[in-house]
Amino acid sequence: MLLGAHMSISGGVHTAFERGKQVGCTTMQIFSKNNNQWKGKPLTDTDIINYKKEAKKTTIHPVVVHSSYLINLCAKDKSTLKKSREAFHDELDRCQRLGIPYFVFHPGSHVGQGEDTGLRIIAESLNLLHEKTKGYRVKSVLEVTAGQGSNLGYRFEHIRKLIDMVDNKRRMGVCVDTCHLFAAGYDISNEKGYEKTFREFDDIIGLKRLLVIHLNDSKGILGSRLDRHEHIGKGRIGGAGFSLIMNDKRFKDIPKILETPKGDDMKEDRMNLKRLRGYLK
Ligand code: MN
Ligand code: MN
Ligand code: ZN
Repeated sequence: MLLGAHMSISGGVHTAFERGKQVGCTTMQIFSKNNNQWKGKPLTDTDIINYKKEAKKTTIHPVVVHSSYLINLCAKDKSTLKKSREAFHDELDRCQRLGIPYFVFHPGSHVGQGEDTGLRIIAESLNLLHEKTKGYRVKSVLEVTAGQGSNLGYRFEHIRKLIDMVDNKRRMGVCVDTCHLFAAGYDISNEKGYEKTFREFDDIIGLKRLLVIHLNDSKGILGSRLDRHEHIGKGRIGGAGFSLIMNDKRFKDIPKILETPKGDDMKEDRMNLKRLRGYLK
């Protein structure tokens, strides 16, 4: 079972493995650099060597990178759009050098330009970026969002449209986040709603595109479009929903990663991982 959590890289990217091991991860997510800066410190050859050494020593695999929250691939402001594309390119470089297969990102916020215009600009950005990173193995993994503010990607149709407009489809994957699904109005808290949601996902996007699952409970109610993560079983989704996803054979080999609130001692991760394992039948 590929189960883990988002881990800090404080002290270097390679340090995440030790943290992941401490809480019993078999997969994990990291940021590739400081998450609130446009330009992180470049990765040195030593960083890469240290990372690969640690990667070999552990059974934590795959590692997934989550993009910086500053990036908006459909920013209206030209200079922000340019900075976003450069930062995305830099993150793809980091993933490629570290041998990371999945780069998860939020599609973008249309900031008043309208949904269709936003989606078109995101696809343009991705086409440019894939062109500039020809031959890279890292996939651009679109995360389904809660639809907060003018965030795109809260409908499976958005994701479908984006993939349709991206030329190199082999570079594209999808990540679902249980909190985001629920907040966006997909009711995965009970069996009927759960089955309907993933049937729709399969019909509109195709389950073969699903590469990463984020496991977060939701503070907001169904359809609230609030992106607020709660500990597993303590939110509006509740244990029944997580039991369904944990036991879904279709998702057996897909990395499942927590992004729930935590302190430095990571005791919350231990608690949430234990709870998730407890749902396994
Ligand atoms: Mn995310
Ligand atoms: Mn997420
Ligand atoms: Zn979220």
